[in-house]
Amino acid sequence: AMEKVRAAGLLRTQGLIGGKWVDAYDGKTLEVQNPATGETLANVSCMGSKETSDAIASAHSTFYSWSKLTANERCKALRKWHDLIISHKEELALLMTLEQGKPMKEALGEVTYGASFIEYFAEEAKRIYGDIIPPTLSDRRLLVLKQPVGVVGAITPWNFPLAMITRKVGPALACGCTVVVKPSEFTPLTALAAADLALQAGIPAGAVNVVMGNAPEIGDALLQSTQVRKITFTGSTAVGKTLMAGSANTVKKVSLELGGNAPCIVFDDADIGVAIKGSLAAKFRNSGQTCVCANRILVQEGIYEKFASEFIKAVQSLKVGNGLEESTSQGPLINEAAVQKVEKFINDATSKGANIMLGGKRHSLGMSFYEPTVVGNVSNDMLLFREEVFGPVAPLVPFKTEEDAIHMANDTNAGLAAYIFTKSITRSWRVSEALEYGLVGVNEGIISTEVAPFGGVKQSGLGREGSKYGMDEYLELKYICMGNL
Ligand code: ADP
Repeated sequence: AMEKVRAAGLLRTQGLIGGKWVDAYDGKTLEVQNPATGETLANVSCMGSKETSDAIASAHSTFYSWSKLTANERCKALRKWHDLIISHKEELALLMTLEQGKPMKEALGEVTYGASFIEYFAEEAKRIYGDIIPPTLSDRRLLVLKQPVGVVGAITPWNFPLAMITRKVGPALACGCTVVVKPSEFTPLTALAAADLALQAGIPAGAVNVVMGNAPEIGDALLQSTQVRKITFTGSTAVGKTLMAGSANTVKKVSLELGGNAPCIVFDDADIGVAIKGSLAAKFRNSGQTCVCANRILVQEGIYEKFASEFIKAVQSLKVGNGLEESTSQGPLINEAAVQKVEKFINDATSKGANIMLGGKRHSLGMSFYEPTVVGNVSNDMLLFREEVFGPVAPLVPFKTEEDAIHMANDTNAGLAAYIFTKSITRSWRVSEALEYGLVGVNEGIISTEVAPFGGVKQSGLGREGSKYGMDEYLELKYICMGNL
């Protein structure tokens, strides 16, 4: 598989600074491993603050030319980048499956999804409208301009190695910003390949820079720079808080997509087939490693037994294996630490009275494979209820009334995605409005799209990605008053 990627010229292992592929200045490298096999895929440059400073300087000097282009010119370059990603769909998907573990089918889906942000924001580049405000004095004219914020620092996680980058870099470039990207150290290869395609598309040297290695050092360099005007981050809530605090000193704009704790509420009046299909997809996509994955499946008493038995059957049909195999629907977890976290949550739940209905242990394939698991009778004192498990574990939580369900769903500091299953229109409105979440799926388990705003409330984050609203994160408003006409 790696041969295909290499043959396409997409196996990049150096950082990208000012359009040049560069080693870490001290020559250090870090290993990128295949989580399904443990094999080393590549050794990539392990960079730190010096390289980051140079990347910032390059982004800063390119900002002046890139932001001066017409929207049409930026649109064309972005459009070309989109097309190159699509024409290298297979190689990018292979790379993603190799370094991240997700099944090929999901990886191919992510390439299309990831590319869609670039296409969408290429189009939006042409729609950065200002305003003319009716004046309060007759000899004045009042105007509002939208201008790019400047250099953007984008820090991204490993669970969507491509899409988390394109949905930040797409709108940033469309608005006229330039970017320093720091991908996850677990999945830098997809990021580097995508950056290579950006260069090939004619996006100017210095508009997109990529550094990876020592995350805190790179993060600090981005935070301390007065030239970096914006930090956009997807990852853990803990790191998000550090970045937000660290942005205070230079008063940067901040967008954060942090952890979720998604409730998936199945009411007695749900269409059971729709509810099973939707909750299965919402839970087990990417082996449960997404921030919108159903983390708690709340099931109303009247349907609990029936739902549990049919859900278990559906989970039994999932096929665990290496993502490169055609039949695989569940890849490995990203690493050993992820498996240990799942084990800790399971032990906590069983010690407090939950029952394992299916799975509940490491998979016989070894490595970081874990059995798709269903846990019954989960309650609000368990880690499985309180925190994101980020693995293939579906906790079932029984509830009595609609009010109880809303209360349980909102009983968390997170507020990203929520799902409800009901055939009642009135209930779907009531519950959707009562849920303290940024996204709500009604009778749907997979709802993300480039055209709709994605983002959380409470400690799940700040700002929105995707959609026309996603542009605002990279724009400043300027008010111009023309007087004495
Ligand atoms: P996850 O649990 O999804 O790995 P993290 O928040 O640890 O979430 O990682 C998300 C991204 O944040 C990764 O690119 C990681 O390298 C980066 N990161 C981790 N710690 C820091 C830090 N102190 N400063 C900047 N970036 C960091």
